[in-house]
Amino acid sequence: MGKVYLVGAGPGDPELLTVKAARLLAHAGVVFHDSLVSPEILQLIGREAEVIDVGKRCGKKLLTQDEINSLLVSAAAHHSVVVRLKGGDPLIFGRAGEEIEALRNAGVDFEIVPGITAALGAAAVAGISLTDRRAASQVVISTFSRGTEGAAMDWGAISSTTTLALYMPGPDYAEVARRLREGGLPGDLPCVIVSNATGAAQQIRWSSVARLAHEEKLPAPALMIVGRVASRRVQEISKAFWSEAPKGPHASRTVVS
Ligand code: SAH
Repeated sequence: MGKVYLVGAGPGDPELLTVKAARLLAHAGVVFHDSLVSPEILQLIGREAEVIDVGKRCGKKLLTQDEINSLLVSAAAHHSVVVRLKGGDPLIFGRAGEEIEALRNAGVDFEIVPGITAALGAAAVAGISLTDRRAASQVVISTFSRGTEGAAMDWGAISSTTTLALYMPGPDYAEVARRLREGGLPGDLPCVIVSNATGAAQQIRWSSVARLAHEEKLPAPALMIVGRVASRRVQEISKAFWSEAPKGPHASRTVVS
């Protein structure tokens, strides 16, 4: 029986891969990867390895999650090193939970190799501190895009000093803006959209919750960082927002400074 490694490929730049991930890619017997993984990183896979794209993007479902789970289990019977390579970190919106469960149930040995998640890559290239103490007290990693059983965004967790990293915002920025406003976020709260963070096609757009609806759509993958820290004038703006209570459905549970 071989071992399955759930490996994070990071946000795009191959130099942001961990040393361990690079070593495993060079030695894997088989690599199952997502379409988010950049070609430069796929080049690090050893010549002998079987490389299988199990990517699911733009509604083109290549394989179901159950099929991927079964493939991982059966690959462990034939290869000593099986790599399941995912964009960013495998444990953030990567459906690793289901794969871990399938491997556990089948008694297959596995290990998780973390990667740099997109929010951290995006913050780095935008040059903003997600937890800038002048303006933020917590970071919430969330999405409006729901899995079949995924929970809806918990607005009760959002306060005036929350930095919201919004994954998979989708192409409809007006809809995103509407939902942020409905959640009680002020229109002038800063927001930065980062597309292809750390990759060759990287783009950064500084905006605000209100302006978001009119922004040109950036190509996927893109994420949004919403909050006071998403401004290049953090110090100036740190006291300027949330003078009134958020109007969201859970406003009473929301801490307002
Ligand atoms: N496991 C991944 C996330 C997978 S969900 C991680 O930890 O990063 C896919 C979403 O991640 C995309 O819709 C986008 O919101 C975000 N994403 C992934 N790579 C990105 C990149 N290079 N730049 C911006 N956003 C990215």
